[in-house]
Amino acid sequence: MTSHTLQFAPAAARAPESDPDPIVGGRVELQLLTTLKCNLKCSYCSLGVGEVLGSQTELKYDIDQLAAFVDKHLAGKEVYVTFYGGEPTLNRDMMDKVMRRFPQFRYQLQTNGTLLDSLPDWMLHRLSNILVSIDGGERTTDGYRGRGVWRQVLKNVAHVRDRLGGSFTARVTWGHPDTSFEELDDLAESFDYLYWQFVADEQYFADSTDKRKAVLVQLIDKFFRRTDKLYPLIPIMGMVRNKVLPNRALERYDGRTQCRVSTHLINVMPDGKIFPCPDMMYAPAMQMGEIQGNWLRKSPLQPHPDMPCGGCEAYAWCRGNCMKNLYLGYVKKDERYRVNVVEPICELVRFMGREIDRHDPHAWFAEAALPVRGRLVDAEVYEYVEIMP
Ligand code: SF4
Ligand code: SF4
Repeated sequence: MTSHTLQFAPAAARAPESDPDPIVGGRVELQLLTTLKCNLKCSYCSLGVGEVLGSQTELKYDIDQLAAFVDKHLAGKEVYVTFYGGEPTLNRDMMDKVMRRFPQFRYQLQTNGTLLDSLPDWMLHRLSNILVSIDGGERTTDGYRGRGVWRQVLKNVAHVRDRLGGSFTARVTWGHPDTSFEELDDLAESFDYLYWQFVADEQYFADSTDKRKAVLVQLIDKFFRRTDKLYPLIPIMGMVRNKVLPNRALERYDGRTQCRVSTHLINVMPDGKIFPCPDMMYAPAMQMGEIQGNWLRKSPLQPHPDMPCGGCEAYAWCRGNCMKNLYLGYVKKDERYRVNVVEPICELVRFMGREIDRHDPHAWFAEAALPVRGRLVDAEVYEYVEIMP
């Protein structure tokens, strides 16, 4: 038995009671962390917090225990699985077992892209989306990830592209203040989608927020330039969608955050413990279930009166962007994190909203070709990403 084989583990002696209906709505994203090992050492990795990265290298539950959990808690739901890590492709054996056991589920892979060429064709055919982590152009990406990574990733993407059943999404953590419009534009033009998230780290000093705003102006300007072709930047698509069709920001997330941590995102660690947010798996208070004990509770990561969203101009379409940030900044009252990370990101989100309004999104939507409208309103990829930056 290799270290990656799904292993049997006895059920916990006394499992806590489950909530009768822990998942809100008819969909659930089951994010399976196949391993916490990674073959890269990205300088900003969020799993470095609480020393989560590398802490679990073996699965402590088996495929039958996962099936029993699915039967008990996810029956009747539309399930979409994201393989996550660490680097999930380091445990291909688990991906293989899960995809064969649950052929009716939809699948996404979140990967650093370096081992993509090792995936078999049948697996590539069955993936609805691959999120490839990349930071921008060659200099920026290799600066965070190591020399040669950018070239290797783009080579792998080109190599498997024809065999991928679904879409390829570039997933950028916008960490560097000098990331340029051209870098992001290149990714948007060469992948099917570009998703970015503003880095949850103290990278908003001096003029670095203004530098990001200048790039955002260019990206948003380009988004609105054409009505016959969609500029596939997910955070802009999502905001425009929510402004033009406000119901879309409500119906799939019960009006709560669009990363789904409060309603229907569950992250299963290799040891079987379940958490709502993959960035907070170091916090015991956040545990909401376990595979071996077969229990699941409602997400503990919920809106709180101390969070400022209710009085925010962006709330109607933002819905409380990153609950982890809001929780740490306003509930746990980490002042330094609030001032240096949460507030600058919220400022950027509000800025984006104003820039979008300047372009009259309703008029743009009225002019947009039907295929453009269709993707803006209903892109499947919204089910797999956070939507807000
Ligand atoms: S911008 Fe910040 S404060 Fe405003 S709704 Fe979004 S998360 Fe809440
Ligand atoms: S956006 Fe959601 S899933 Fe991502 S770190 Fe924030 S709370 Fe967690």
